[in-house]
Amino acid sequence: MDLKELYREVILDHNRTPRNFGRLEDADARAEGHNPLCGDQLSVTLRLQGDRVADLRFEGRGCAISVASASLMTEAVKGRSREEIARLYGEVHALLTDRTRAPAGDLGKLMALAGVAEFPARVKCASLCWHTLNAALERAPAPASTE
Ligand code: ZN
Repeated sequence: MDLKELYREVILDHNRTPRNFGRLEDADARAEGHNPLCGDQLSVTLRLQGDRVADLRFEGRGCAISVASASLMTEAVKGRSREEIARLYGEVHALLTDRTRAPAGDLGKLMALAGVAEFPARVKCASLCWHTLNAALERAPAPASTE
């Protein structure tokens, strides 16, 4: 199986069986995202523990890329700090938009989105979940300072 095929399998799998799908009832923050170009719609709910995203869920509907990307994102950011998430988003954004740039960090399964860069119209599908997550994080209460 070549890499392209492997990536395709990951996308299909996460579209068919999205991870962390649903809604957290006791969420600290939530946000809705909409990509009118494709019709993708999703919401993200999350719970914070200090500066970290302790748990998160997404729900909504959209094309395979938007659902798979959201599913992969929830797996990648769970347990991470805001700063780590911001850095990860920078890497994913570069992966989606710049075919010439090799990712600096280890993106793990998120690498499956590499093929999206070949389809500029789908970039918004893949990045919708990240914009929605960022919007939720902006709304989340700032962590109580321990310093
Ligand atoms: Zn889409």
